[in-house]
Amino acid sequence: MIIYNTLTKEKETFSPLEKGKVKMYCCGPTVYDYVHIGNLRTFIFYDIIKRIFEHFGYEVKQVINITDVDDKIIKNSMETKTGIYRYTKMFSEFFFEDIGKVKIEPATIYPRATDNIDKMVEIIEALIQKGFAYKAEDGVYYSIEKFKDYGKLSGVKVGQGLSRIKSDEYDKLSISDFALWKFWDEKDGDVFWDASIGKGRPGWHIECSAMSNRFLGDTLDIHCGGVDLIFPHHENEIAQSEAYTGKKFVNYWVHSEHLLVDGRKMSKSLHNFYTLRDLEDMGFDPLSFRLMCLDSNYRDKLDFTMDNLKRYEKTLNDINISFKLLEKLNESDSVEINEEVDTIYSKFDEALADDFDTHSALAQFFKLLDLANIKIKDGRIGKSEKKKIIDTIMKMDKVLGVIDKGDINKDVIELADKRKELRKESKWAEADAIRKEILNNGYNVVDIGDSDYIIVKKRNHV
Ligand code: AMP
Ligand code: ZN
Repeated sequence: MIIYNTLTKEKETFSPLEKGKVKMYCCGPTVYDYVHIGNLRTFIFYDIIKRIFEHFGYEVKQVINITDVDDKIIKNSMETKTGIYRYTKMFSEFFFEDIGKVKIEPATIYPRATDNIDKMVEIIEALIQKGFAYKAEDGVYYSIEKFKDYGKLSGVKVGQGLSRIKSDEYDKLSISDFALWKFWDEKDGDVFWDASIGKGRPGWHIECSAMSNRFLGDTLDIHCGGVDLIFPHHENEIAQSEAYTGKKFVNYWVHSEHLLVDGRKMSKSLHNFYTLRDLEDMGFDPLSFRLMCLDSNYRDKLDFTMDNLKRYEKTLNDINISFKLLEKLNESDSVEINEEVDTIYSKFDEALADDFDTHSALAQFFKLLDLANIKIKDGRIGKSEKKKIIDTIMKMDKVLGVIDKGDINKDVIELADKRKELRKESKWAEADAIRKEILNNGYNVVDIGDSDYIIVKKRNHV
């Protein structure tokens, strides 16, 4: 597999630390609000790369952290007079609901920052002892000039006369000593830990160094995040982790590009965001958004528009109709198998192995569906060819995750059967009334000639 590494700015051949295994850490959500679909693009990418490694036979240990203590969380939970625990629990639950809707498979572990404070304190103590960190009046800070490799990921240059920064998020111009531990002040209310390094709470960056070390060890194969995390967050993680262990922290840094609206990054602060719930309220199938993400390269910016999303919803619907029609297609005795199926599948693999190129992989998936559509038009297909195409589509979908699975509600099938009988008796008005009832249940019937049908999920923008 070939991977573009942000650290070397080159495409490299992937070589795991341990044969057949991948240790992967992905920066997860800060649970202070609903995630927006920009965040979701990144989380979908985490899911895709995990699935791709598994597709190629690797055993993946994927850690996605939940940041459940930071400046924004404390501020919001105080403003809404909700205890921090209840506040973050609520938004973590919403997060898990949202990722489930876009078919993100569960990571191996979702550690919470507040369950790992002991590890953070242990690292900070070690950093103080080794001379990389120092105590100031309002917290413990990392002294970036002590770490000679500071800037190796993002290219920032450490200047003279460094200032200190306490806030978790700061811009590219603020190349400063950053807070590892923030001493308690009134603004923090009852959010603090009584630690050996003082009464206070962790900074954001130390959370990821601690959780990656605890769950994956000193060196990781892959670390991912959105491009906005390269500086300062990931640069600071390297400084903390490498100073702590004396070893290389990450072999491959993988960063995904942003989702844009009107040319600007989708973000809470610009108020230009949609949540998945907004899209659902507009009647969209969340998987249309997944398909949209798959069709772009993760290293390219992706411009979000409603018109585009509608286009993907239609494509998603077509994919599922074709697949269902193929499953129902009459079989002939022909033993011939179109060799193109194997070629398509190996090109699919080639695309995925080339820096997770889901756009080109998807093109192969569509090619295979085109092949199926020709057979559907013919009205029949050889038995073994049908099996081969269906199996290949299913193997591809194990990575893509766009084919509807799960049983259709028994009542809906009964309704569809009843409708079929009514149509046979030319009772069109009654048959139509049943179609509406099926639609109200969230499904649509597509007729095959006069005597058969398939049932697909109801989609509004097709
Ligand atoms: P946060 O909860 O703000 O820490 O963000 C969680 C993840 O979403 C991080 O990996 C960010 O890089 C990523 N992210 C934030 N905004 C966008 C966006 N507009 N497009 C893609 N990813 C984003
Ligand atoms: Zn992180």
